[in-house]
Amino acid sequence: MTTYAEKTARLRRDLDVAQRLGAGRVGLAKSTSNLFRERQRRRPRIDLGHFNQVLRVDATEDTVEAEGMTTFADLADATLGLGAMPLVVPQLKSITLGGAVAGVGIEATSFRHGLVHDTITAMDILTGDGVIVSCTANNEHRDLFHGFPNSYGTLGYALKLTARTMPVKRYVRVMHTRHDDVDIFFADVARRSKDEAVDFLDGVVFGPRDMVLSCGTFIDDAPYVSDYTYERIYYQSLRDKRVDYLTARDYLWRWDTDWFWCSKNVGAQHPFVRRLLGRKRLNSITYQKIMRWNARWGVMGRVNRLRGVHAEAVIQDVDIPLARAHEFLDFLLTEVQVLPIWICPICAPDPANEATLYPLPSATLSVNFGFWDTVASRERRERGFVNRKIERRVTALGGVKSLYSDSYFGEDEFWSIYNRPAYQALKARYDPRGALGDLYSKCVSRA
Ligand SMILES: Cc1cc2nc3c(=O)[nH]c(=O)nc-3n(C[C@H](O)[C@H](O)[C@H](O)COP(=O)(O)OP(=O)(O)OC[C@H]3O[C@@H](n4cnc5c(N)ncnc54)[C@H](O)[C@@H]3O)c2cc1C
Repeated sequence: MTTYAEKTARLRRDLDVAQRLGAGRVGLAKSTSNLFRERQRRRPRIDLGHFNQVLRVDATEDTVEAEGMTTFADLADATLGLGAMPLVVPQLKSITLGGAVAGVGIEATSFRHGLVHDTITAMDILTGDGVIVSCTANNEHRDLFHGFPNSYGTLGYALKLTARTMPVKRYVRVMHTRHDDVDIFFADVARRSKDEAVDFLDGVVFGPRDMVLSCGTFIDDAPYVSDYTYERIYYQSLRDKRVDYLTARDYLWRWDTDWFWCSKNVGAQHPFVRRLLGRKRLNSITYQKIMRWNARWGVMGRVNRLRGVHAEAVIQDVDIPLARAHEFLDFLLTEVQVLPIWICPICAPDPANEATLYPLPSATLSVNFGFWDTVASRERRERGFVNRKIERRVTALGGVKSLYSDSYFGEDEFWSIYNRPAYQALKARYDPRGALGDLYSKCVSRA
């Protein structure tokens, strides 16, 4: 296996890469992606797919060093094998370490450890002008270290990252608490997020008076373990079981088998289809492929036209300060009407380690709302009608929206949220020729 040093030496010598970077806009070649916006223009791509190895797991330092294209599935396996896990492991197996930092990553440990980028201590980044820089929170490239999260590959490509880890136990006991009152539900989120005995915290809203909060705790022994990797569906267990036990590994991937609940969009919750697909293909990568095939051939679009239905894809993750979470939930339930909704608390960002381009509400717990579906209507509406409403409400409530899916912000509005001055200073220093494109054009204009 070629070492990281050999790969970077070859990259530095790789005239093709230099030429592509020199010749104008490039993109990243990737076999999988969790982006949810179609790109308009084809462009030359840089293939860094071979930077996909875990390099070192250090149980004494509680760190793992891995190349940027390493999937969290491989990262979890490498660390679990040594009794540890990265502090935050996004729940879709194909998400990569570099992608989760460039595109913001979250999971049920975020109430204590923040977002994936909050767990990173060092990065090697191939910048737009073809230079590989090493950045940490305190060295001469600390501006890029703090500016890289939420940059979506427009400031450079992460070749190697060091992430903090924590010790694990073999099993996770999950306690599911049902709620029928929104205020009590969010009060419980706040209370549990301070509970040292809780290792994992997330929830699901099934309806206005039907919510479940799930608290996970590491344990050494379990009376039994549940298996949600085949016939049984995790989110359907939340309202039936008060307590459940999973292996640590199965807990990390509890949402991947059914892409939360989005497997319903491809019929994969039907027992016959599950048997047809089999355990190996019941995962987010399969559903992504089906979804991209549909997007390519516009199958659902034709069906909807025949039915006289106008459908808008509403696939978003937004972070709202806890104090306004009730208001935002009311808005979603009355004006968007997409259910279920994933709820994931995020601790207040560390002022000394804030992400320059992803301004989470400061000095407060935030709540991530994840909702992924289409909103249908009989009347034709302007493009992005519902998504636009959501953007306005998120901004009005002091929240921030992640940019992996569709966005409709105006340019000034966008930059009033995502810090134009800091971004322009970073572009001038690390991608002066604009080889990697601009964040607004990439995330909103889809250029
Ligand atoms: C249905 C759905 C649910 C989701 N839920 C969650 C969730 O719960 N938790 C969560 O954490 N995330 C979630 N995401 C978002 C996802 O984490 C982000 O989109 C993340 O950026 C994907 O990482 P990836 O490795 O798949 O990268 P891609 O999706 O392939 O890329 C994302 C962006 O990052 C850039 N990029 C990728 N690799 C690198 C690199 N090494 N260096 C620099 N830039 C790079 C790409 O150019 C692209 O702009 C969800 C997405 C979907 C579609």
